[in-house]
Amino acid sequence: MIPAIVIHTHLLLSDWMGGRCFGPLILIRPSQRDRIALRAHELEHARQWWWLATPCLVLAVLFNALPLAQPVWPWSLSLGVLGLIVQAPLYLLLRSYRMWAEVRAYQVTLSYAPAGSAAAALERAAVSLASHYWLQISPSCARMLLEEGRQPWWRYWRVPRLRGREAGEGAPGK
Ligand SMILES: [Zn+2]
Repeated sequence: MIPAIVIHTHLLLSDWMGGRCFGPLILIRPSQRDRIALRAHELEHARQWWWLATPCLVLAVLFNALPLAQPVWPWSLSLGVLGLIVQAPLYLLLRSYRMWAEVRAYQVTLSYAPAGSAAAALERAAVSLASHYWLQISPSCARMLLEEGRQPWWRYWRVPRLRGREAGEGAPGK
């Protein structure tokens, strides 16, 4: 069970998006509300957010509870706030983190694909991954990443970028 709030709305969703995730807040297009795989994809992003937020929040509380002479609450507050927002700059600025986050989320999506349509679902996921997330990879590279299983995020530093027109269009999105 991943703590998250799910809202069905068109707001803040680009045309190609069925949903997106801001921390523990998940937005799902109303027409897509029955897609379990989409919801699981966005919940995976929420899980990724909790993995960053939880250690910072716990440390902030413990730090604040220490019997120190100096007031520590400004530092504790800063640490707590950092935990709440750190995923956004990581996702937007660090290609390897963004690639890790989306590969994991699409792997979760694919785990819901019926056996008979698994190949087609993999192809759609690979094209989407290569097209929409500013990763500068080809669909065949995306397919390979999706098939190779879980990897640590730093593994994605080594994935080469496509150059020029091959790289396609698109800005980061979730
Ligand atoms: Zn995603």
